[in-house]
Amino acid sequence: MSEITVLGIFVADISFSGHKIPSIGETILGKKYNVGPGGKGCNQAIAISRLGGKTNFISKIGKDSYGELALKTLEKNKISTKNVIQDSNQQTGVAGILVDQNTGKNAINVIVGAPSSLKVNEIEKQIDLIKSSKIFLTQLEVPKDVTLHCLKTAKESGCITILNPAPASEISKDYYSNIDYFTPNETEAEFYTGVKISNQRDAKKAADKLINLGIKKVVITLGEKGLFYFDGKEEIYLKASNVKAVDTTGAGDAFNGALAFSLSKEKPIKECLKLANKVAGLSTLKLGAGDAMPFIGDLD
Ligand code: ADP
Repeated sequence: MSEITVLGIFVADISFSGHKIPSIGETILGKKYNVGPGGKGCNQAIAISRLGGKTNFISKIGKDSYGELALKTLEKNKISTKNVIQDSNQQTGVAGILVDQNTGKNAINVIVGAPSSLKVNEIEKQIDLIKSSKIFLTQLEVPKDVTLHCLKTAKESGCITILNPAPASEISKDYYSNIDYFTPNETEAEFYTGVKISNQRDAKKAADKLINLGIKKVVITLGEKGLFYFDGKEEIYLKASNVKAVDTTGAGDAFNGALAFSLSKEKPIKECLKLANKVAGLSTLKLGAGDAMPFIGDLD
């Protein structure tokens, strides 16, 4: 039995780090570049595996050089490639990332590629895997009908479901009753609730709205400020780790992966959130996304 199944995408992240993120029409001379694994789903699966969790990754890639990078990355991180569909008619996705080296903040353009053609009838074998998992974790980077079908199947089979609603986009009402944990960042939380979040009170207001939609538990990640959790009764606010962030790309993925991992170990919620907060903070210390996910040994 797989403990945690992740549905999502792999993309090759091509990141450029420099003294600022260039404005429109501007050229700057940057400092460093990196080509490495990215895509929220793949990053989250890597985070889980590096913490020692047993995870399966459901995805689709092309038969090209970035597809090779995907397979190598998964193997290196001890994640099975059995549930990754390879399609020679599709391109593996890429993301162009611009990083400000002073703050670690970024601007990203993702070309999803192969997984944008994913269909419900293509993943029958993978559906069985979801049914036998303890936790199902996904985002909004694969087609919505596939995401909803998998969330519904997971919920019906008694899995704990986590939706990291990123990148923010419209979801139908059907989604809400199938979500146990909803984990937007501040911008995504504003997208779904209309509440601009600048403090804990705003986060509570946004979380309240989400709970009223039928979501069971809400975790709003607040970047360098930390996180806010609300389940309709219990409220938890945790400050972020005090680290000097180099690149925050993938911090949310480290957070979601670690949350899924600790929930699979049936730890109390506060402990799960503490671990996720710590793992996410550590992930900001390295350039890149998938490659920046910390290992269990980095936690001490
Ligand atoms: P996303 O990467 O999805 O935009 P956030 O920016 O909210 O998500 O970051 C997710 C989590 O990563 C935060 O809740 C926090 O735990 C951690 N984090 C992000 N930025 C920093 C930072 N500058 N310092 C310490 N921790 C950070």
